[in-house]
Amino acid sequence: MNIDALYDLLELSDDARLRLQHPKLTLQVSIPLRMDNGALQIFQGWRVQYDDTRGPAKGGIRFHPDVTMEEVTQLSYWMTIKCALVDLPFGGGKGGVCVDPKSLSRLELERLSRGYIRAVQDIIGPNRDIPAPDVNTNEVIMGWMADEYAQIVRRKEPAVITGKPVGMGGSLGRVAATGRGALQVLDNWVKRENLKPGDLTVAVQGFGNAGYHFSRLAHAAGYRIVALSDSRGAIHEAGGLDPDAIWEHKQRNRALHGYMYCDHSVSEEKEVTTLSQEELLGLDVDVLVLSALENAVTEDNVAQVRANAILEIANGPVSEAADNTLEKKGIPVLPDVLANAGGVIVSHLEWVQNRCGEYWPEDTVNERLDARLGQAANACFHRAEKQQVSIRSAAYLEALSRITDTMDAQGTQSYFSP
Ligand code: NAD
Repeated sequence: MNIDALYDLLELSDDARLRLQHPKLTLQVSIPLRMDNGALQIFQGWRVQYDDTRGPAKGGIRFHPDVTMEEVTQLSYWMTIKCALVDLPFGGGKGGVCVDPKSLSRLELERLSRGYIRAVQDIIGPNRDIPAPDVNTNEVIMGWMADEYAQIVRRKEPAVITGKPVGMGGSLGRVAATGRGALQVLDNWVKRENLKPGDLTVAVQGFGNAGYHFSRLAHAAGYRIVALSDSRGAIHEAGGLDPDAIWEHKQRNRALHGYMYCDHSVSEEKEVTTLSQEELLGLDVDVLVLSALENAVTEDNVAQVRANAILEIANGPVSEAADNTLEKKGIPVLPDVLANAGGVIVSHLEWVQNRCGEYWPEDTVNERLDARLGQAANACFHRAEKQQVSIRSAAYLEALSRITDTMDAQGTQSYFSP
């Protein structure tokens, strides 16, 4: 169902519709970077605050050569939906820099990260807009950024950025939170469908941070991880793979592709078949997990998909056209705004810990994550059944009704109407 149809179903007011069609604030910046060789390069960056009706904007910063303003804006809209869906007191934002970070030295990367914060400093803050990591940014980069912000405002302000190293006010459990949350959503769905993890096979596209933590926890919970891919290759083992062993190997060898050539470096000494990334998407598995980038499944390749269900850990990995096809075929999709919300839930817990100055054990963080996400997942499944819509549509309906309730409570209608 497209977004207008959802707005119709919700009988969304014209005012709310109009407000949700436009990002509240878009900042484009040029970031000068002194390269190690003395040359100056300029990188384009953005910060978009899509909506702050329910609280300060919240969303990650992406470093990627394909980042555009349109992409950042789309991601910031999805963050708005996601934060409302899991009932966090946040709106949605996103940031990005058009750069290939792997081409930079560590010092260049640090200078760029600090330069980004100097460029967007006026519009971020613990009560205004709180960045976090996304693709190609991690806790080390968040640490540099938080430090740069502290130098600018001349005081410690840890709640300005989440996903920081624990020593700088980061939360225990944040690194694994997205993968853990995705498993929590899958587990809830599996239970509802009267299935058993031990009977289910799983293929994972995108064995990065989120994909790895999901795979390791799912493996421990009894799911059979039969295939994994990264940007350079894919592997398949019908009997099941050990994600920890492969991760350890990948850290040393930088790509899954080399796994099979590794000499006694992993705990299992099985022969592992390699396949193309595209072939992984067409494997006959119970669950296909998409945890790489946007548009992994589109009109062009949706016909190949043979999985019984899809779990979206990446943002927007299934295009709208492909999503419609999957819906017609009756293949359920556990949507991104729900399945990857674990990251922002623990980011919120980090922000709360920073503000109250008290830090919690990992078990406390995980319990709160599981409770919030389990509740949101079941609300989506229940609404999908009740209103006979897809789980994605149900998630949007849940989120949009929360956002527009707040808009209405703020007096939007009377303010805009004559
Ligand atoms: P990451 O950079 O650690 O991992 C991405 C992985 O995808 C890498 O291993 C990369 O090699 C792989 N990849 C890229 N192109 C591929 C292709 N064509 N085929 C197969 N693999 C490919 O990033 P991440 O933090 O794990 O994020 C992954 C996705 O999850 C992103 O879309 C991100 O927006 C989303 N997400 C992440 C978080 C988080 O907390 N990490 C939170 C919410 C959403």
